[in-house]
Amino acid sequence: MTTFQSLGLEEHLLQAINDLGFETPSEVQEKTIPILLEQETDIVSLAQTGTGKTAAFGFPMLQKIDVNSRTTQGLILSPTRELCLQITSELKLYGKYLNGLNVVAIYGGASISEQARQIKKGAQIIVATPGRMKDMIGRNMIDISKIEYCVLDEADEMLNMGFYEDITDILSHSPKDKSTWLFSATMPKEVATIAKKFMHQPLEVTVGSKNVGADTVTHEYFLVNARDRYQALKRLADANPDIFSVVFCRTKRDTQKVAEMLIEDGYNAAALHGDLSQNQRDLVMKSFRTRQIQMLVATDVAARGIDVDDITHVINYQLPDEIETYTHRSGRTGRAGKTGVSMVIVSKSEQRKIKQIEKIIQKSFIKKEVPSGIEICERQLFHLANNIKDTEINHEIDIYLPKINEVLEGFSKEELIKKVFSVEFTRFYNYYKKAKDLNVEGGKDTSGEDFSKKYSEDSTRYFINLGRKDGLQWMDLKDLIREITDLGKDDVFHVDTMETFSFFNTDSAHIDKVLEAFKGVQFNDRNVDIEISKDKGGRNRGGGKGGNRGKGKGHRKGGGGKRGKFNDDRPKFKGKSRRKESRPKEKGTGGKRRRRM
Ligand code: AMP
Repeated sequence: MTTFQSLGLEEHLLQAINDLGFETPSEVQEKTIPILLEQETDIVSLAQTGTGKTAAFGFPMLQKIDVNSRTTQGLILSPTRELCLQITSELKLYGKYLNGLNVVAIYGGASISEQARQIKKGAQIIVATPGRMKDMIGRNMIDISKIEYCVLDEADEMLNMGFYEDITDILSHSPKDKSTWLFSATMPKEVATIAKKFMHQPLEVTVGSKNVGADTVTHEYFLVNARDRYQALKRLADANPDIFSVVFCRTKRDTQKVAEMLIEDGYNAAALHGDLSQNQRDLVMKSFRTRQIQMLVATDVAARGIDVDDITHVINYQLPDEIETYTHRSGRTGRAGKTGVSMVIVSKSEQRKIKQIEKIIQKSFIKKEVPSGIEICERQLFHLANNIKDTEINHEIDIYLPKINEVLEGFSKEELIKKVFSVEFTRFYNYYKKAKDLNVEGGKDTSGEDFSKKYSEDSTRYFINLGRKDGLQWMDLKDLIREITDLGKDDVFHVDTMETFSFFNTDSAHIDKVLEAFKGVQFNDRNVDIEISKDKGGRNRGGGKGGNRGKGKGHRKGGGGKRGKFNDDRPKFKGKSRRKESRPKEKGTGGKRRRRM
């Protein structure tokens, strides 16, 4: 077995490695460190984030530089401020026994004069983002004319982010005979071009195979109607009570929206996107690192450089426009030798992308079913049981025991267990008892016998002559029906909007109420017709294409309707809060939503 000693590392580094608790070198370290220690060479190393590549270039650089000199000898360029700070703090840890070592981070969004002051003290190693670096070289605040080692970390990301010009400019100020060490998760043409242009006969080290996702990550996809995306996300979270995840959305708007919906529904979630100030982003990342946030909803750009280990799930709420980006997303989990799951919520029209991604990552996706309500209840129940089993008893409670015993006197152990578990179970049960199957065709009905029976036998399906032509998506229609009928959120279900008409269900007990409520109602100066449909309203009904929430034209005019409810102009239909199923709020049992990981 390879050890850190056998790689040729000096004692001070071995001591730091020991302090950090690293037992054996990772693959990229094993393959890269001996080469970099023994030879003055350029190298291209294809390795994912989380494989230990910082140490793979960090250890050799720390061993080779002269800490007695104040000259800048090593430059590391990385795509984001977060990554830059992470590399800097790792290098400081690795070099803790190197007296006189000064590693300085250079990045945008912070005081340039303070950074210049740090550099002036004599930084042997500079870790920088390209933009700020170029700026400081231009202002003669940094001199890299004597560097011996230059690392281009996450080269593919830097190029993706449009740093090609900046990198070219920066390197033009560095000596030709330096060694360049390029690290990249993927090897697109652009990276190959950089390697050709700036490197001399680089050696190539590949960890796993090129462009391939980490072996520690399992890839799963869930096929749902586009309109059920959010419900599917909640189920995936609820079915994994210990989830610690990054949820990827395509746009800043969606990122913000999904995060807000999750927060409102009682999850520990937050958004991370470019519209937040640096300060806000720092706060979000801090909360995420300390596990206060369980679901970090992020755009691809904002998530670059998220350096948090232990992420259990990456959830692709939407697939990225550039499918290559998927590798970066999934690489946020399964780090540092841990396993992780990358989940993709796809609609039918996006399904072909799964095949394309499989080609890139050279791995198959597992098609999974969105868990049914009953499955989630069961998982939550057993999670609670295990939590109780693992909970350390707090003996501060002891003094209250006699009183508690008095209150609970007369209950058997079995009854007490049932009561304790009912607190949690009932909460989920009530929420999920009418939950429909979110899987679209091809997926078997997983929603549990009891639920489905009750659903079809006791419910009535209605036809209504309003549809998408009226600017109504299913959620708008559900809101309208609820307002007119005064029915609860869970009482109106299976709302399917077609072009000129729609269907919806209620429990049969509400038939009279519904028919009565719609008498004389108008919408857009048109009488609203409602009839009981012969069709009971099956599950998995495709219905409208969904999505486009808030795109309703809002053209509801006044005009003598029965209650006037349909006919007044209410931009609030574009709002979101009333449309959502809201998740049962935490009631303090087990503290499930408070991370204990
Ligand atoms: P990186 O790919 O450099 O971002 O490293 C990912 C994580 O793995 C960091 O938290 C490192 O501290 C950790 N790490 C690096 N090398 C090892 C190792 N040989 N054994 C265990 N953990 C490591």
